[in-house]
Amino acid sequence: YRKTIIAGNWKMNKTLSETRAFAEELKPLLGKPKWCEVVLCVPYVNIPAAVRLFKECRVAIGAENVHYESHGAYTGEVSAEMLKELGVKYVIIGHSERRSYYNETDFTVNKKVHAALEAGLYPIVCVGESLEQRELGVTMDLISYQVKAALAGVPAEKMRHVVIAYEPLWAIGTGKTATAEQAGEVCESIRAVIRKLYGARVARSVTIQYGGSMNAKNAHELLAQPDVDGGLIGGAALKAPDFVQIVNAAN
Ligand code: 13P
Repeated sequence: YRKTIIAGNWKMNKTLSETRAFAEELKPLLGKPKWCEVVLCVPYVNIPAAVRLFKECRVAIGAENVHYESHGAYTGEVSAEMLKELGVKYVIIGHSERRSYYNETDFTVNKKVHAALEAGLYPIVCVGESLEQRELGVTMDLISYQVKAALAGVPAEKMRHVVIAYEPLWAIGTGKTATAEQAGEVCESIRAVIRKLYGARVARSVTIQYGGSMNAKNAHELLAQPDVDGGLIGGAALKAPDFVQIVNAAN
């Protein structure tokens, strides 16, 4: 079947010492190994320490971005191979903040997905509509386009490494969560898009997360939706007790 994945996205938060403190706090709270996969996506510079610190609590580490070329004259960028060698498992690709502030396009998202898969990383591909697009009634057209563009050229056998995160832009960092029905509906449609592209077996196996103001209070209801297989959590993943409550809601 498919994995439930609870992933924190720390964005540009936490220094190295704050990362250490979080790990200390998380360890006793998390307790026994969890049934779901627990992931923390952290700033590049904290990755080596995070891999080491979170190994004991079986938290996998993700990056928040990656470059699409394998190496070369790209000042300031980091390749998938570099991440892989550090022990990184996941990488967020096409987060709306990167799409809107750093000119990430569907084209570069697709190239990054290929680079990640090539290096053996698991891409977490973010898609989502703006409030205007939702009000215009084009949410599913847009999401379907984003999913198809991100996955262009990805062969079926690589799809077991791909995670999709549905993050409506109007729900990110706003405290305005999508209702469970809204989240469930879009995640179901995303699975239908994957089914059309790759068939039912692949579609059943792909983890589809919801992200956008997910917290300890609303996680249970969102995760109860049949097509919501996890969460991508921003703000609430910065506090160990809140993050653990969301992990527990998935178990
Ligand atoms: P918040 O949980 O802070 O709304 O952020 C969601 C997000 O962007 C995760 O990638």
